Amino acid sequence: MIIGVPREIKSDEYRVAMLPVAVEEAIARGHRVLVEANAGLGSGIADHDYLRSGAEMVGEGADVFAQADLIVKVKEPLPVEFPLVRSGQMIFTYFHFAANRALTDAMVDSGATCLAYETLRDQHGRLPLLTPMSEVAGRMSIQEGAKYLEKPQMGRGILLGGVPGVAPAHITILGGGVVGANAARIAAGFQADVAILDVDLDRLRYLDDVMPANVNTLYSDRHNILEQLERADLVIGSVLIPGAKAPRLVRAEDLKRMKSGSVVIDVAVDQGGCIETSRPTTHSEPTYVIDEVVHYCVANMPGAVGRTSTFALCNATKPWLLRLADGGIASVIQSDSPLRGSINVHAGKIVHPAVASAFDLTC
Ligand code: NAD
Repeated sequence: MIIGVPREIKSDEYRVAMLPVAVEEAIARGHRVLVEANAGLGSGIADHDYLRSGAEMVGEGADVFAQADLIVKVKEPLPVEFPLVRSGQMIFTYFHFAANRALTDAMVDSGATCLAYETLRDQHGRLPLLTPMSEVAGRMSIQEGAKYLEKPQMGRGILLGGVPGVAPAHITILGGGVVGANAARIAAGFQADVAILDVDLDRLRYLDDVMPANVNTLYSDRHNILEQLERADLVIGSVLIPGAKAPRLVRAEDLKRMKSGSVVIDVAVDQGGCIETSRPTTHSEPTYVIDEVVHYCVANMPGAVGRTSTFALCNATKPWLLRLADGGIASVIQSDSPLRGSINVHAGKIVHPAVASAFDLTC
């Protein structure tokens, strides 16, 4: 099989979907790997590193799409890439279809098979290809929150940990999954005062057991959320219902209850966001202000720490990528491999129930 690795073209995206070590393993299994020139540069991986591993370098992304049976990417195809996706081709990447009708329509029309990292669920019910990026985004959310709470960045002028005699920041984390737990751990390390809300009581019990004393758990209901919004200096949005649009936990009118200069980091913006006023932003223009609340809604946060993120992502994707290349799509469809659950679109149809229901369809 021919595996193709195009250069990522999304704004400020520095990750690449395949490491030289994976190229070497794929070739040892009898595959060919085409890598677009400079695809790894943003992550500090040079073309000669890929060449040494046996990859064939290709000058134009369009030629990678034209020749490869299996395209492996980091971010969803952008509109300029839509016409390059071919019927019968497999695209293995993050798609987040539920938040993007144009992308969904384009992929359905292409006739390609779209395998979404974010819906691949392993035998333990975990999402192993979302986890590493959620770890990065969760840890990074506190780093970014600390920055935008600074006065020159339009924030309240608050130091997360306070100092002796001055209270630390109060941080509210909506959703205690991978993003939320990683955010809480870093926030706790900064000595902030942290509340983490979730609807899963078992998850709250676990977090209560493992988190330091400055992290408290709360059930996520409307009353607790409103009470938290009034107290919070920093709100992290990190809820997820896999494949579906994020539930809107903070309504536009709720912002009026928040302190002037407080910050929301809506990590869940890639699934539509859990704050009604969120809209996707980029690393070049990451924030905007509504009702005196700074919104940071970058949909590809890990892209900014490309090197860490590339290695974290590729460590997780490699075994699945090799399995997909070895068996091809027919064997995935016939098997009960977790890869089957990653198929969102196949041969002109949406085949993942959560994606279909996001567009009021059935499958
Ligand atoms: P996860 O499944 O590990 O955690 C989600 C948590 O949300 C679960 O514990 C779930 O019980 C909880 N939840 C569901 N409904 C809730 C509600 N009404 N109130 C409170 N909690 C609720 O998911 P994750 O890996 O932590 O990812 C969270 C989000 O972050 C996803 O949308 C993911 O795509 C996104 N993400 C974004 C970026 C980015 O760059 N912006 C990077 C990585 C992940």
